[in-house]
Amino acid sequence: MTTITTILLDRDGTLIEEEHYLSDPALVRLIPGIATPWKTLAGRGCRFFLATNQSGIGRGLFSREDYEKVHARLLELLRDHGMNLSGAALCPHAPVENCSCRKPGTGLWEELAGKYGLWPEQTAMAGDKAADIRFGLAAGFAETALVLSGHGREEALKLGLPPLADHENIRHLPVRPGWPRYQARTLGHYLSDLVQRTAHQDNAHRI
Ligand SMILES: [Mg+2]
Ligand SMILES: [Zn+2]
Repeated sequence: MTTITTILLDRDGTLIEEEHYLSDPALVRLIPGIATPWKTLAGRGCRFFLATNQSGIGRGLFSREDYEKVHARLLELLRDHGMNLSGAALCPHAPVENCSCRKPGTGLWEELAGKYGLWPEQTAMAGDKAADIRFGLAAGFAETALVLSGHGREEALKLGLPPLADHENIRHLPVRPGWPRYQARTLGHYLSDLVQRTAHQDNAHRI
């Protein structure tokens, strides 16, 4: 039975359209198709969190204030569609800084778990990069999903995942080192699948 209560999301290429080192709030666009399954899951008690690498800050390409403006715009767009984030954690460092919070390091998880009392066995992670998957595997999450938006297609090739057929929106993958449990066309497809899988749980509670 699926008992996912916490959904961690990568930002760029997963929740919003990939923009190279996004620092302009006007360019924030939600990936289509997420609102309906998101609201269903939220109605069942799921909470959503952001875990995002923002090395553009450490590389001096934009400031922390720019990030906060983009984040405020993201929250506004989510709110407009009836969604909200329960929390967000960011890594502002460049790779050369060798911090422990840049995914696939698990620092962002430790920060969120400590602050909000989260459990890895009830947590799912969705992202468009192998680093997001390695982060989820290292933290011991219940499941991980690679989405094929953003950098997802290249990353799926790098991981050697079998390509989705044209009619397929999500696939449950066999357990292999470094592989996600699910490969989904977009975050919306992954969340919709989670809605179906947790429906049983929902019914069980009502009986
Ligand atoms: Mg990403
Ligand atoms: Zn960091």
